[in-house]
Amino acid sequence: MSDILTLSNFFYPKSVLLIGASSKPKSIGYEILKAMIGFEFKGKIYVVNPNSEEILGIKCNKTIEEITEPIDLAIILLPKQLVYEGLKSCAKKQINNVIIITAGFKEVGEDGAKLEKEITLFAKENGIRLIGPNCMGLINTDEQVRLNATFAAEVPHFAPISFLSQSGALAAAVLNTIRQTGYTFGQFVSIGNKADVNENDLLEFWWKDENTKIITMYLESFENGRKFFELSKNVTKEKPVIVLKAARTKSGTSAASSHTGALATQDDIVEAALRQSGVIRVNTIEEMFETAKAILKFGKLNGNKIAVLTNAGGPAILCVDELEKNSLTIPELQSSTKIKLKEILHPEASLKNPVDMLPGADSETYRNAVKIISQDPNIDGLIVIFVEPVMIDSFEVIKALAEEQKENEKPILIVAFPLPHFWERWKSEGISDSLILKSVELAPKILKNIFHYHTHKHQKEPFVESLDKETSKKISKTLMNAKVLQNSSGFLSSQECHQILKALDLPIVKSKFIQSENDLNKIAKDISYPCVLKISSRKLTHKSDVKGVILNISNKKELKEAFREIKSNLQKKKLLSLIEGFEVQEFFNGEIELIIGAYRDNSFGPVVNFGAGGKLVEIIKDKNLALPPLSISEATKLIEQSKVYPLLTKFRDFEEVDITKLAKLIQKISQLIYEFEEIKEIDLNPVMVKGKKLKIVDYRILI
Ligand code: ADP
Ligand code: MG
Repeated sequence: MSDILTLSNFFYPKSVLLIGASSKPKSIGYEILKAMIGFEFKGKIYVVNPNSEEILGIKCNKTIEEITEPIDLAIILLPKQLVYEGLKSCAKKQINNVIIITAGFKEVGEDGAKLEKEITLFAKENGIRLIGPNCMGLINTDEQVRLNATFAAEVPHFAPISFLSQSGALAAAVLNTIRQTGYTFGQFVSIGNKADVNENDLLEFWWKDENTKIITMYLESFENGRKFFELSKNVTKEKPVIVLKAARTKSGTSAASSHTGALATQDDIVEAALRQSGVIRVNTIEEMFETAKAILKFGKLNGNKIAVLTNAGGPAILCVDELEKNSLTIPELQSSTKIKLKEILHPEASLKNPVDMLPGADSETYRNAVKIISQDPNIDGLIVIFVEPVMIDSFEVIKALAEEQKENEKPILIVAFPLPHFWERWKSEGISDSLILKSVELAPKILKNIFHYHTHKHQKEPFVESLDKETSKKISKTLMNAKVLQNSSGFLSSQECHQILKALDLPIVKSKFIQSENDLNKIAKDISYPCVLKISSRKLTHKSDVKGVILNISNKKELKEAFREIKSNLQKKKLLSLIEGFEVQEFFNGEIELIIGAYRDNSFGPVVNFGAGGKLVEIIKDKNLALPPLSISEATKLIEQSKVYPLLTKFRDFEEVDITKLAKLIQKISQLIYEFEEIKEIDLNPVMVKGKKLKIVDYRILI
């Protein structure tokens, strides 16, 4: 049996056993049983409780052994100290799917963590898949199943949307408000401490699950970010994945010594990973469920040209601002469209996009205007705003719009602000599956989400070039030797960096290594002026900070003076013992300084960074991250999204930079960290550019 099939019994069990069901109302052990019975579970319910004859009409078994029928799913509600025993009896009964609702494990400290580890190990050894502990259970609203194994009182209407929540409380909040929000979903699971089953398992399971068309997740952490990235790349080609990721702050970043490592927060990496894999990242629960609903309803948005139709100015302006922020366009309507609109609208109505019909517009005017605008070939989707004025019946207007939303071929998002009593009437007489938003800012976000998802889905798989055998061999050799010689810092020497970058055929600056002033004479014929003298050190990260770099040296005399100056600078600072020697480099009169870096994140694995470089790198913070492997076109995108990009494209009197060459450089660095696991960080800062010329003048590689 494949691994994901083993999850099937969680969502489609034919028999469920509650271990630790209680006869005490308001206890979790009682409420879950009540919820299961109340929701009319289609399978059989079994209960174990040595102290009761029956609970809520279900006969209790004293022990698991008493039950002779097979059990698909067990739910453990026991006190913490009895959980392990409960799990052991599940193993004896050959139950392969267990949910542990009980809390008090990893989340409370070391002892809890230890117990959780033991339980997880036991489950693994016995072929049991485990959800939780410290979770609120799961729901499947599919008519064939009707499973509510949670202590939530409210259950959503079915939709082919599956919802994972890492937080039980957040899920409870969603369920508690379901009557107001109208959110719908089929499968829901709270994964608690993720001792065994985590978001990656569910992503894989729902990918193959026929009743799931859209996957939504609220996550606080990624168990294995790299796996999520690789998996979701495939899933999104078939099903939309929508993720709300909390904990956006910097604190999660692992300490790193390179610029790339120090600059990138965990959230930057999450952002890059989700964008690259085509996952829709949302910022609120509302955006998550409304986007899911909109995708189900509309399928796709063919282009990014949006019309706004309104009866009020202010909300339409806010909406247009938000459309622009989300890279959607608000084009002029065709003149034939305007002529048709003029015939039905108030003479003072504005026919520009947004079309403002003024407050007098009634249901028929709204309906006709929507029909006319949606036929404009310049328009891919509509946002219709309605603010209830005193003289208009809001019910009639919103009903007309909902009908149009159902029938029209183009996506029509309705944003409505009726008086409170409207909603009561809508619930009983309205069109039940219509999508009506209560925020003008949300509609553009939803359209952008749909548009981006479909653009990504239909993109061709990019071609990634691996390093050729010869190159890999040379790099391996350098790394092998370096490992033998490895000093405590883990940094490669300048010479070793040179070897690797040269093996990759990258434009590294010409340089000579020397130890003493006397060596200057030995290499005299190899030096061309102007040149640069700098210290070579694995221990000093910022050479210029310790006055260890002198630029633009024009002759031999100046070079000797520079040597003495740097040496005396370091002597004064008592740093001379920290350097391995000196490097005489050609002086490259570049115009722009860039950074290209890479490092390895604990969860997401290798990450590549590109941006403005040089000494200001920490201030400008031009971080643009991507997860290897990268194709040339993905590397080019990374350049295009950077802050420094305009400077590279004929800005003022700057020379136009060879973007393809730059993209190739990024691509190779990406491949270097991807193919060589022993490399932890790479920092090329700066890569100097001037027109068609590129030079790597400062480099560090950590293994
Ligand atoms: P560090 O970053 O350790 O202080 P760098 O080698 O990056 O030292 O040098 C500092 C700055 O000096 C670079 O950002 C760049 O502006 C300039 N520089 C360094 N090497 C060269 C070179 N070979 N040609 C031209 N400018 C250089
Ligand atoms: Mg530098």
